[in-house]
Amino acid sequence: MLATVGCTPTTRALKPGYSRAYSRKPWAAPHISMDAVIRVIVGHRPYRPNGFRVEREQFDDKVVIHNYGHGGGGLSLGWGSSALAVRLAADQVPAEVAVIGSGIMGLCTARLLQDAGYSVTIYTRDVYRHSTSNVAAGEWGPYATHDEGQVDAAFLAQLDWAARVSHHAYTNLTGTKYGIRWMETYDLYDEPLAEPVRATFDDLFTYKGDLAPGQHPFGKRYARRMVTMQIDPGTLLRQLTADFNLAGGKFVIRNFDGLANVLALRENVIFNCTGLGAAALFDDSNLVPAKGQLVYLPPDPAVDYMTFGGGSGGEHGFLHMFPRRDVLLLGGIFKLGDWSRNIEANETERIVQEHKKLFDSFG
Ligand SMILES: Cc1cc2nc3c(=O)[nH]c(=O)nc-3n(C[C@H](O)[C@H](O)[C@H](O)COP(=O)(O)OP(=O)(O)OC[C@H]3O[C@@H](n4cnc5c(N)ncnc54)[C@H](O)[C@@H]3O)c2cc1C
Repeated sequence: MLATVGCTPTTRALKPGYSRAYSRKPWAAPHISMDAVIRVIVGHRPYRPNGFRVEREQFDDKVVIHNYGHGGGGLSLGWGSSALAVRLAADQVPAEVAVIGSGIMGLCTARLLQDAGYSVTIYTRDVYRHSTSNVAAGEWGPYATHDEGQVDAAFLAQLDWAARVSHHAYTNLTGTKYGIRWMETYDLYDEPLAEPVRATFDDLFTYKGDLAPGQHPFGKRYARRMVTMQIDPGTLLRQLTADFNLAGGKFVIRNFDGLANVLALRENVIFNCTGLGAAALFDDSNLVPAKGQLVYLPPDPAVDYMTFGGGSGGEHGFLHMFPRRDVLLLGGIFKLGDWSRNIEANETERIVQEHKKLFDSFG
């Protein structure tokens, strides 16, 4: 695994002044400036404080299986949550089924159903390019999915199962075809860490180590190094769409404006993978948006690690830098209950300037 993430130990690559306790090839600093910004995008995480909903509901002769509300971890949970949803149809004879939505949940659900012998039609308002899933930054990390005080043990067991199944599934898809690769990640802190911050799923983040100031180029901070997968959502969703089509799947572009519309579908088994759309469609007042804003810069293949933290926003604006193949991405906002779609210029400026400062210490 080490070779795949470009971490082959070498003392020759050490920059002067770095401790020999930890070595890797030199860290390249991303080029960050306002005039390099290609595009800024806004997206809304479908957040439920009480956790995502995978549940079966009977409406006369129709079965609706819900699979929505994954907050900031939906890309990571795609396969696992969809496997939970598909299990709820295990008593149904493989036949024609409907999936509503073509984000990560709709596509994973549809692919799993096809593999189980079902004939699947995806009904969707937007194709994947215009879904929230295509906005996701792309770290494999099933976090920001719920409010600790509002979930029970049953939900946590479900989350754990979904995360592990999904992690395993993604490890089978690494490579350029699905846009998934292993990558070093550094969580940055002002103080030494007393306990792991990623307390859940800690075991799925490998190659961990704590670096003190002087052992890394991130200034006076403390860094926790680990390895996880980076997912390029555009590549993944495009390939899943191609797989779905190849397996005989059909797309119908349709906007559902109410439950009656949904229940009028000819299929008797309907998977509801509408993300934030479920709030209106199924009258779910627990489902709220968490606004995000991402800044795209030109890709920089020399940067071979991701970073989290280092800014002033705290958990409502955790800075993150992901060197994806298509863009170098900077993020840093999580605004609960904010439905606005406008780009916030002051946030763009903050995200860019704070990241610039973070990498200034590279010298
Ligand atoms: C800025 C940002 C960064 C993120 N970063 C990450 C990350 O790094 N890692 C991670 O794991 N997750 C991340 N996420 C979260 C992740 O993107 C979501 O949890 C996930 O995409 C939700 O997928 P979904 O398929 O449920 O919903 P969506 O992608 O929103 O798909 C819903 C689908 O349903 C359709 N639909 C909705 N309503 C209707 C209707 N009434 N009629 C017909 N069709 C309808 C839509 O057209 C769409 O096709 C991020 C999200 C944001 C916004």
